[in-house]
Amino acid sequence: MRMLVTGGAGFIGSQFVRYMLEKYPDYVIVNFDALTYAGNLDNLEQVASNPNHIFVRGDITDAEAVGRAIDAYQIEAIVNFAAESHVDRSIADPGLFVRTNVLGTQTLLEAARRRGTRKYVQISTDEVYGTLGETGYFTEATPLAPNSPYSASKAGGDLLVRSYYETYGMDASITRCSNNYGPYHFPEKLIPLMITNALGDLPLPVYGDGLQVRDWLHVRDHAAAIDLVLHQGKPGEVYNIGGHNERRNLDIVKLILGLLGKPESLIRHVPDRLGHDRRYAIDPAKITAELGWQPAYTFDIGIAETVQWYIDNERWWRRVQSGAYRV
Ligand code: NAD
Repeated sequence: MRMLVTGGAGFIGSQFVRYMLEKYPDYVIVNFDALTYAGNLDNLEQVASNPNHIFVRGDITDAEAVGRAIDAYQIEAIVNFAAESHVDRSIADPGLFVRTNVLGTQTLLEAARRRGTRKYVQISTDEVYGTLGETGYFTEATPLAPNSPYSASKAGGDLLVRSYYETYGMDASITRCSNNYGPYHFPEKLIPLMITNALGDLPLPVYGDGLQVRDWLHVRDHAAAIDLVLHQGKPGEVYNIGGHNERRNLDIVKLILGLLGKPESLIRHVPDRLGHDRRYAIDPAKITAELGWQPAYTFDIGIAETVQWYIDNERWWRRVQSGAYRV
């Protein structure tokens, strides 16, 4: 298969690229990424010399550049990871999120439609469903009720994907995953920020009371689920992905401090994020029953491995912190 993977220099996209090239040595992956602050070629070191990995720097809102890449490499499938992905940044600059996550998605869909590209997979998020109370789970039938400019822009992208299926019959699927963690995670996000700050004996900023609940999944389990949706997902369907792994933010921070042998006195409660969703939790019954997906990682093993990865790969995160990774 010849695939266009957009956003493949980011956290999850680069994991997916590494996973796919290892599992399918004859696949060709054209990695199309604008290299925003979140794109990092260091994430692709393991595949840098693989002739089946082709990196193209380009913006998904640029219809000509997208079309050129699809034509030049005779692309059969598109998996779209490219996005602005950080909620705090979306509160500061919502317009950029609409541009990339809504207009960018539509640009990709249109390019695929005009060329009859065989398959399209949109990587979305459980945040499009809004927030939960203390009980219940998001299913694929949960109404969209996004609360942040980030999640609203992702929901907008999802609705365009749906419309291309309904209107043009495009073979397009959507995945909605819970929070990911694992190696190469940009240290502005909760888990890598806490690990890297703790390693440097710096304060650990925790929003509000820290009792917000997130459902965590190892990024490699996410990549495996997307592989299944790409090959076996039904056109027009949404697949929720999650590992039944609910944790309160404050408990995660304490767990990380424990693994690193650092004191809880490093924790600093800071004013809560505006519109902060209280709880996310995914019901993954559909992808489990229909595609046979199961997470391989338990959280305890995954988080311990991840902490160890940051200890072993200080050069990676120091280059991110200093800005030296930017090209
Ligand atoms: P990330 O911010 O680490 O990576 C995003 C990548 O997209 C970067 O490489 C960036 O350079 C690229 N990009 C941004 N704008 C672009 C543009 N206009 N054109 C081309 N490339 C562009 O994000 P991530 O955490 O890897 O998330 C990937 C996808 O998965 C996103 O769509 C996100 O909404 C979704 N998702 C993330 C999580 C999570 O926990 N991180 C959970 C569920 C879903």
